[in-house]
Amino acid sequence: MNEDIENISFTIKQEAYKLGFYLCGICKAEEFAFEKKYMNDWLKKDSHGLMHYLEKNFEKRTNPSLLLENAKSIIVVALNYNTINKQPEDSPKFSKYVYGNDYHTVIKSKLYNLCETIKKNNPDSENKICVDTVPILEKTAAQRAGLGWIGKHTCLINKKLGSFFFLGEIVTTLELKYDKPINDYCGTCNKCIESCPTGAIKSQYQLDARKCISYNTIENRGEIPESVFTNLNGWAFGCDICQNVCPWNKKTIENTEPEFDIKSEMLNFNREQWNLISEIEFKRIFKTSAVNRIKFNQWKRNIESL
Ligand code: SF4
Ligand code: SF4
Repeated sequence: MNEDIENISFTIKQEAYKLGFYLCGICKAEEFAFEKKYMNDWLKKDSHGLMHYLEKNFEKRTNPSLLLENAKSIIVVALNYNTINKQPEDSPKFSKYVYGNDYHTVIKSKLYNLCETIKKNNPDSENKICVDTVPILEKTAAQRAGLGWIGKHTCLINKKLGSFFFLGEIVTTLELKYDKPINDYCGTCNKCIESCPTGAIKSQYQLDARKCISYNTIENRGEIPESVFTNLNGWAFGCDICQNVCPWNKKTIENTEPEFDIKSEMLNFNREQWNLISEIEFKRIFKTSAVNRIKFNQWKRNIESL
């Protein structure tokens, strides 16, 4: 291995840790051949429900080398959002990832800083930031970059961190040192499959979004199917059940990102207070939150069923 490549890779990782990313790994920018076939089958079964955007840019999504001319590597980072904070027992539940400010903004700003340093140190490089809106199979990239394995519930799991973290990527023309993918440590455990109240995890690594509470409370703007509607288990936005039961999430490493501090309303409001908020209050409370991805009528639909 060329010493320069090792040094550049090391410096990038150090910079990522300085910016607050808990994990940073690197994989080759190439076609994800196995996952391409898997995704094709998944889409053919309509398991993505109304998320038609997943059908678009299929070639790019499954081959990140097409995202940037002369792309050689993908730098993958993870930002922890886990917390010991809890909502009151009788309150409509929010998935932990929306307790604080919108993660897109937070990760993007950190990745811009990382990109600037990369460019400063390597002026000939071209670098493209990917957060959510750029088509890339980010869990696959993260798995290949050694950040963790994809659990039976289809979230990425890291041995130290569990699964409550966000991912972000930089596709770069730099040749870098690639990390090794790590083993799958799910073993004989099936807790996530057994605990899913709607049977959305049909079998190992097979998620049917149409049955998932998270998909239905966020992505589905129409009617929630009866079998899901009657099994929301108190979830008003998202669902953390399959992650909460996972043995790898037993210990909590508290996030250190001030932007992810839980909103006071989430920490304090009970069911009645949430039931009474107006559209104006809803917009005010969630102005800087990923909860504003849903409309007020979806919010009412979700909480009225709890
Ligand atoms: S998020 Fe909830 S509904 Fe969706 S698969 Fe996990 S446990 Fe099931
Ligand atoms: S609950 Fe068990 S099977 Fe599911 S992701 Fe965690 S370790 Fe894997």
